[in-house]
Amino acid sequence: MLDVAVIGAGVVGASLAWRLSQAGARVKVIERARPAAGTSGATFAWVNASAKSPRDYFELNFAGLQEYQRLVEEFGGAPWYHPGGNLVWVAEGGVPAMQRRVEELRGWGYRAEWLTAREVQRDLEPGLRCPDPATQFVLYPEEVWVDVPLLVGTLLELARSAGAEVIESDPVVAITVAGGQVRGLRLASGAPLTVDAVVNAAGPWADQVAALLGLPLPLAPSAGLVVRAAVSTEPIHRVLHTPVVNVRPDGPGHVLLHHRDADAQLGDRGAVEAGDPLCRMLLERAREVLDGMDGAEVVGAAVGVRPIPADGRSCIGAVPAVGGYYEAVTHSGVTLGPLIGRLLAQEILTGEVESIAAPFRPDRFPRG
Ligand SMILES: Cc1cc2nc3c(=O)[nH]c(=O)nc-3n(C[C@H](O)[C@H](O)[C@H](O)COP(=O)(O)OP(=O)(O)OC[C@H]3O[C@@H](n4cnc5c(N)ncnc54)[C@H](O)[C@@H]3O)c2cc1C
Repeated sequence: MLDVAVIGAGVVGASLAWRLSQAGARVKVIERARPAAGTSGATFAWVNASAKSPRDYFELNFAGLQEYQRLVEEFGGAPWYHPGGNLVWVAEGGVPAMQRRVEELRGWGYRAEWLTAREVQRDLEPGLRCPDPATQFVLYPEEVWVDVPLLVGTLLELARSAGAEVIESDPVVAITVAGGQVRGLRLASGAPLTVDAVVNAAGPWADQVAALLGLPLPLAPSAGLVVRAAVSTEPIHRVLHTPVVNVRPDGPGHVLLHHRDADAQLGDRGAVEAGDPLCRMLLERAREVLDGMDGAEVVGAAVGVRPIPADGRSCIGAVPAVGGYYEAVTHSGVTLGPLIGRLLAQEILTGEVESIAAPFRPDRFPRG
């Protein structure tokens, strides 16, 4: 039986831990803080492929979306899964470019529907505030959002019941290698662990974990802000992207807000208080586009760092420089987590790499 250590209990590490344990590996998940304490706890959590290019990255993300549908069937119930699609308000002047994109996506087998603001208000979102009823929207009906902390907790619980051990509040501080092969780990608590394989699923800290092996892993991280607001009605029922703010439900009585304009103004701030002007800006913008936000109040804000490999593409699989060392580092990790979990578990246990993951191998980066 293979002993595998998964470093990081975010959505990627938890997905992998579950698939490995399910397949019979002896798994230890090592988390320096607590599950979903990293980017997985500060994300917009929209599962999609519509915003993904080029074609091979789109295909990976489309497979990621379909993997969720399989997971929901497999689990027989999924309180963390929220279907309903994603509505995109097409900015004035943006219609021709959107028409090209929708045609491209449809050609790739992806569902997309054109709607006017009037149709959106009548059939989907009565609370939408849109001054021109002819404004164009695109609905991607298959897209969803997920409650990531709940999903991570569920996956780790399943992994535990299949024999995995989850070690929290204890960072990995060393990885032992002998004869070119991973042999073990050392944790900050001093505990040594003997393992056959190590997976670096440390999100935006993955470069620091790779550095424990003397391996460069170039990342181009970027920070983002999500803001949680309490609402007295349900102003929105699905993911909504508008030119000024992105909004989705966030459990009963709450919505989550995000927009790239706020991300761009974050600077190097690693945390933001609920009373911050950036939170107020997102709330004001949400009031512009939705009824039912008038009495809304910001109740939380989180800054997350996107774990983006330097070329913007996912980094999944064995690193040939060190036997038994694997990486699972990606932006869109919510969309891709369950898929990466299944594909990487298969690679670790059988050596088989599915063609969909082949363009995203870690060995495309020079490893010193
Ligand atoms: C604002 C924002 C919006 C986003 N929106 C979306 C979206 O809509 N859809 C989407 O698909 N993706 C989105 N993303 C990206 C997505 O959230 C991330 O790709 C994903 O959460 C990464 O998950 P992960 O498990 O790889 O990393 P993380 O969740 O960061 O988990 C890594 C874990 O490793 C632990 N760790 C680090 N170092 C060590 C160590 N030495 N020892 C032990 N543990 C360690 C950390 O504590 C952390 O818990 C967004 C990101 C941001 C910031």
